[in-house]
This record gives sequence, C-alpha cells and structure tokens, in this order.
Amino acid sequence: MSQFIFKIIAIGDGTVGKTSIIRRFVHEEFNPKYVKTIGVSHALKRLFIGDNDVTLTIWDTGGQELFDCVRPQYYRGASGGFVIFDVTNKDSFDHLDKWFNDLNNQCSGITIIVIGNKIDLEADRVISTEEGEQYALQKGVKFFETSAKTGENVIDVMEELAKLILSERKVKTSEKTKKTVDKAT
Ligand code: GDP
Ligand code: MG
Repeated sequence: MSQFIFKIIAIGDGTVGKTSIIRRFVHEEFNPKYVKTIGVSHALKRLFIGDNDVTLTIWDTGGQELFDCVRPQYYRGASGGFVIFDVTNKDSFDHLDKWFNDLNNQCSGITIIVIGNKIDLEADRVISTEEGEQYALQKGVKFFETSAKTGENVIDVMEELAKLILSERKVKTSEKTKKTVDKAT
C-alpha cells in the first residue's frame, strides 16, 4: 500500500459553500447559519483508493479580497483545487475566471475540478448544469454539482479529485522511471 498526502484548496466567492462542502465531507454535518471564515483553517480526511492510502489536507479560507496577502501561502504546495460557484448566484459563476486565473498563476500544474454547489435549491437555480459543464469543458477540467446540505455528490467529488491527482502522479512517476531507464540503456 502506498501512502500519499495531498493538499487540497477550495476557492470561489464568499457564501458559495466552501466551508460547508468541507464540513460535510470531513464531519458529515451541515450548518444552515453562515459563519464567515476568517483567515485559513484546515481539516484532514483519509481515503483508501485502490491500493493507495490517501490523506487529504483540505484548506479553507475566506474568499474576501481582504485576505489577498495570505493567498500565496494558502496556494503553496497544493496538489488539487476546487473552484466553486453557487448555482443560485450568477455573480459567483461570472467570477470563476478570476479564481481560475489566480489559481493557475499561483500553482502551475494543479489538478482542478469546478463545482456548482447548492443544487438542493432547484427552484432558485439560475445557472444550468449545461452552462457549468460548458465552462469546465472550455477550461479542460471536470465538472460536478453538489449540495453540502443534502450531501449529494460531496464524497464523489473529493474521491474524484484524489483519483485524478493519483493518476497524474503515476504518469509523472512513470515518465521519470522511463527517463532513468532510457539513460541507463
Ligand atoms: P463560504 O463563504 O463559501 O465558505 O460559504 P459557507 O459554507 O459558509 O456557506 C454560506 C451559506 O450557504 C451558509 O448559510 C450555508 O449554510 C449555505 N449553504 C452552503 N452550501 C449549501 C448548500 O449546498 N445548500 C444550501 N441550501 N445552502 C448551502
Ligand atoms: Mg467559508
């Protein structure tokens, strides 16, 4: 069994549900009251994927511009990132590019998944599944829709990100091995 520790970060506008998705995944609970995240906090979760023992350290931060100065530190060493919007909030969808660019500038080669959250609020939805899919497709990444409230798809999206990171690592490792073998021959 191989052991891995991956740093995962969650970004997106304030109130899209970053803290709630993490809390749902790590503690299996949901808090309907909004508690603004100040600074950075992290949580740990262990997953067994195939033959791999993977510990995710999931970092959560306030999306506020105020915390611009902590962002480089927040991004440092991240293997994966969730770029999250709220399907009932068009602004949060329109701001995805900003978050995407920020992430790509700070962490080259990071594995990203786009999440449309709050799908339990179907009556208030303003961004369709197709729009979300289209956006992710254009960025060349996967798209998931979740509800931190009901828990729908939350575990699935975390596992998918861990699997993607693992498979990309495996590719990198085998490329390295191949180069070493090439040199030796
Ligand atoms: P953050 O600022 O991105 O960390 O957002 P929070 O996780 O603090 O969530 C903001 C508000 O939206 C809170 O009142 C949450 O209870 C609520 N919320 C988060 N996710 C969901 C969801 O999937 N469905 C519903 N109905 N409310 C949600
Ligand atoms: Mg928060």
